[in-house]
Amino acid sequence: MKELKVKDVEGIAGIKTVYPIIKSMMDKRLIVAEEELKEIFKQKTVAMLKLSADYSGQDALHQLLDSLNRAPKQQELVLAYMSMFPGVTGDWELVSRKSLLEKSGNSTPTALNALVKKGVFQGEDVVVSRLTGADKLQNKFPDLNELQKSALNEINEGFAESKPVLLFGITGSGKTEVYLELIKEQIAKGKQVLYLLPEIALTAQIIQRLRICFGRKVQIYHSKFSENERVEVWNAISEADPDSGMIVLGARSSVFLPFKNLGLVIVDEEHETTFKQHEPNPKYHARDSAMVLAKFSKADILLGTATPSVESYFNAKAGKYKLVRMNERFGGSVLPEISIVDLRVDTKKRKMKGLFSSDLVDEIQDTISQKKQVILFQNRRGFSPMIECQNCHWVPHCVQCDISLTYHKQIHQLRCHYCGYSLNVPSKCDECKSTDLRMKGFGTEKIEEELTELFPDVSASRMDLDTTRSKYSYHKIIDDFENERTQVLIGTQMVSKGLDFNNVNLVSILSADAMLNYPDFRAFERSFQLISQVAGRAGRRETLGKVLIQTWKPEHEILKRIQEYDFDGFFNTELAERKTHNYPPFSRIIHVTLKHEHQSALDPAADALASWLRSAFGDRVLGPEYPPVSRVRNLFQKRMLLKIENEASLSKVKTTLREQIDRFFEANKLKAFRLMIDVDPV
Ligand code: ADP
Ligand code: ZN
Ligand code: ZN
Repeated sequence: MKELKVKDVEGIAGIKTVYPIIKSMMDKRLIVAEEELKEIFKQKTVAMLKLSADYSGQDALHQLLDSLNRAPKQQELVLAYMSMFPGVTGDWELVSRKSLLEKSGNSTPTALNALVKKGVFQGEDVVVSRLTGADKLQNKFPDLNELQKSALNEINEGFAESKPVLLFGITGSGKTEVYLELIKEQIAKGKQVLYLLPEIALTAQIIQRLRICFGRKVQIYHSKFSENERVEVWNAISEADPDSGMIVLGARSSVFLPFKNLGLVIVDEEHETTFKQHEPNPKYHARDSAMVLAKFSKADILLGTATPSVESYFNAKAGKYKLVRMNERFGGSVLPEISIVDLRVDTKKRKMKGLFSSDLVDEIQDTISQKKQVILFQNRRGFSPMIECQNCHWVPHCVQCDISLTYHKQIHQLRCHYCGYSLNVPSKCDECKSTDLRMKGFGTEKIEEELTELFPDVSASRMDLDTTRSKYSYHKIIDDFENERTQVLIGTQMVSKGLDFNNVNLVSILSADAMLNYPDFRAFERSFQLISQVAGRAGRRETLGKVLIQTWKPEHEILKRIQEYDFDGFFNTELAERKTHNYPPFSRIIHVTLKHEHQSALDPAADALASWLRSAFGDRVLGPEYPPVSRVRNLFQKRMLLKIENEASLSKVKTTLREQIDRFFEANKLKAFRLMIDVDPV
């Protein structure tokens, strides 16, 4: 039989979603699937040129130049080429087309093409590597201070006992320098090192620091790379001499690279939830996968952070990991002073200037006049600007998802942050037809606008998903701020990540409340981590930094703990809470989500699935419930939560879960349902 592509089947059958049908035909062995891999990797080439061998020697060159007297642009190109090889009159070498054109200044590609056509220049495409910037090697390593040295020793002790190590070092304690030393030891042994960072922390800063120490031995790998660039990294690793040492600095997917002689894995910012991949499948957690990778490869593993995840700190306290602490900042700078601003006070006195309390306005003023810099932070989650009807409180929602649309001023449109659906801003309310529609909530764009109104002379830039879509835009924003071309940096989560700025003295969290109120058992943990991380960007040098947290609930316990830098206090309260409700780390959670286009079909099906699961797992099954966003891309979703004891055999759980799900589908002959399973959701 001849094979068909899935696309062809769709066309012939005139059905849009043929996958479920194909799947059931495959299960019945009516058809077989074949997959073919296509090589789409293209080498990068550069157009190079050299002068033809016919023009060797003074005489030939003079004749050539004379013959071009009436084509000055062409003549100029030949002269430019010759000037690149002073004193040379033959045996010509290749130069890139681009550099030749630049050198000649006034000349044009047309003139150059004419010369190539005449055979004066001979062209050739040369394959080059996309992996640029590997030429910064200076072999300069920082000298560790006493605290760093003893941390290094303790880490090595942990490794000697074959234990994973958790390095809990406050922001600015100099963890990176400790990593560099550890990497150096591995490279000296000819081993490979994987250095994992959350995507958004993979900045030019850290790349630079590594390249200065290790030059060409550094490979970078992340999702903003093109497919081609990734193939080159893959090849560089798989073709490398396994004993020559190599460092791969990468985001989560680099755990899947073909390492050969892995000696050490470093997971920096181990608490970061972005290590978990949600879409597309597989839903894996890179920190946990790195743990497995290290075990397989008999490599050491180090988790580093200034705000450990509850899970990792729990493991360290239980002796499963070795705990190493660094409690002082490098160079003796002190942690910034954190103040909590009660928004109720200024609101009552009508002293709020938009989103800015009078304290914040004063502090910004002070900081700027001392020629210091400011970071303003706004958590995006659940707190984006939306439009609301003043009369009936109607808010425009996405047509496919159960979520309000976010207002984007630059394009003057409302957009859905889940599916990208966009809508022109309505002129009147859908419900009551009132035209009194106003903005509610705020995002980074709003902050930028208000800041510019309050401080017209201050230069600010904004770093969020919208301003950093291209590969280099992060770099530019960070670079501008680092070199003090901008005085204020406004941003989301992105500004909290491992950035090391010299001159930042004030950091403000414009509203802590949305974070604290997020409906998730990890909300307090996230808030603690996020606020401490952002705060850690302030006062990293001589002068004492300041942090202002604006809130409607200043008495909140988490805020007090943050203010006192009391991680252990926070951890103990949080752990007691988790224990009471049997949440991780005292159990493991599995989300089972069922999706369907129609709520009327979904509700009974989800109930039925839940009872199948209950028949096997008993009261470990909670739900089904609608998650915070109950409809995404036109599919309603309902979620069951499984709480599994830590002692349970995971493979047994997996088999049972699979069986129950299969039985449920068999018994119910359901169509067009989708099922999603997420183990250890974050
Ligand atoms: P962390 O990652 O723990 O927040 P960093 O590693 O970024 O801290 O270090 C904070 C600052 O201190 C950086 O500017 C770094 O260059 C500097 N620093 C740390 N250790 C040393 C050292 N041993 N020698 C010189 N500078 C150091
Ligand atoms: Zn209305
Ligand atoms: Zn949507």
